[in-house]
Amino acid sequence: MAEPLVRFEGVRKAYGAAASGYAVQRLDLEVEKGELLTLLGPSGSGKTTTLMLLAGFEMPSEGRILLGGRDIARLPPHRRGIGVVFQSYALFPHMSVAENVAFPLEVRGVPRAARAERVRKALAMVRLESFGERRPTQLSGGQQQRVALARAMVFEPPIVLLDEPLGALDKALREEMQYEIRALHQRLGLTMMYVTHDQQEALTLSDRIAVFEGGRIRQLAAPRRLYEQPENAFVAGFVGENNRLPGVVRSAPEGEGRDRAIRVMLDSGTEVLARPVDAGAPGSRCLVAVRPERVAVAAILASEMGEDALSARLVEVIFQGDHVRLRLSLGDGAEVVAKRPVGAGMLPEPGTLVSVAWDPAHAHAFAAEG
Ligand code: ADP
Ligand code: MG
Repeated sequence: MAEPLVRFEGVRKAYGAAASGYAVQRLDLEVEKGELLTLLGPSGSGKTTTLMLLAGFEMPSEGRILLGGRDIARLPPHRRGIGVVFQSYALFPHMSVAENVAFPLEVRGVPRAARAERVRKALAMVRLESFGERRPTQLSGGQQQRVALARAMVFEPPIVLLDEPLGALDKALREEMQYEIRALHQRLGLTMMYVTHDQQEALTLSDRIAVFEGGRIRQLAAPRRLYEQPENAFVAGFVGENNRLPGVVRSAPEGEGRDRAIRVMLDSGTEVLARPVDAGAPGSRCLVAVRPERVAVAAILASEMGEDALSARLVEVIFQGDHVRLRLSLGDGAEVVAKRPVGAGMLPEPGTLVSVAWDPAHAHAFAAEG
C-alpha cells in the first residue's frame, strides 16, 4: 500500500481548557494522493478546525499530522506548501487578477519570467485567461472564486484545502462551479480536501465523504455507499432525505445477506420488516429509515397490498418539476413522504385512503439516537 498523502493520527483539538470540550474529539483520517475528500457536517461539527490543523493555522492538543509521511507539527503554515481557498475570496483588492495569482510564486522566490508563464497557465485552468489585467472588484462572485482557486493551485501544492468555497454564490452558479471543480480535480489529478455543510454538493464532488458530527467522523465512505448504506441514524438523516419512523424492535435478525431482517413494531401501529444496521435487541427503541423514492403508493386497501403495507391518507401532492412529492399521513399523525417521477401513472386525489409499502431491503433499522 502506498503511503497516504495526509494522515491524522489520534488528533484532538481543544480551543480552551480541555475540560470545556474538544472541537475535534479524536481524528484518525487518511487522504490518498489524487483524491477529493469532503468533510460534510452541520455547523460547529469541527470541519474548519480539521482544515486549520492541516494548514497549520491551529495546533493539535494531542496526536500527530503527517504530510507525505513527515510529521508537520513544527512547520509553520507557509512552509507546509498547502493551497487554501476560503468562502470569502480574500483576494487582494489593490492588485490585478494576475498579480493576485502571482503572489504565492513571488513569496516563494520564483523568478519573474517563470511567474508570468505559470500565472497564464493557472488562469487558463479556471477559464479566465483574458481577465489578468482586471481588478477583483470588476469580476462576478463566481469569477472571483475561480481566481482564488487559481491562486491556491499556481504553486502546484501537494494538496488544496477548500472551506465552503461556494457558500457565497447563488444556487445556479454554485452547481456550475461544483462541476468545474470536479473536472479540474479529475483533469489535473489534484488532491483536495473540501469542506461543506451541503450534502448535495458533497455527493456531486467527492471521491469519499467523511460525515462529521460533534467533532467526530460518523461515517467515511464513497458517495453512493453513504447514500445507500448509512451506518447510523445521524448519517441516514443528514445525507439525502429519509422518512424516519420510530418503533420498537420485535425480533432478532433472521436470514442472510440481502434478506437479513428484523421485525419492528412502528409507533403508528403496523409491524414491518427492516434491515438491521445498528438497531438493538428486541425491546429496544429504533428508527426505521426509508428513502422517499423507495416508497410505493397505491390507491387500494393496505390489506390487499401485502402484510407489511401501511394504511395512509394522501394529504398533499406537490409538483416539483422532475418529480411529484406525496405527503401521506399515518394513523397516529406521523407522516411519510413519497417521490414519484412525473408521468408515472395516475395519482389518487388528496384525501383518499391509500396504502404505502416498500421493499424491506430498502428499510434500514437504526438504534434511536439522542
Ligand atoms: P464547522 O467548520 O464544522 O462549522 P468549526 O471547526 O468551525 O466547525 O468549530 C467546531 C467547534 O469549535 C465549534 O463548537 C466552534 O464554536 C468551536 N470553535 C471554532 N473556532 C474556535 C476558536 N477560534 N475559538 C474557540 N472555539 C472555536
Ligand atoms: Mg466551518
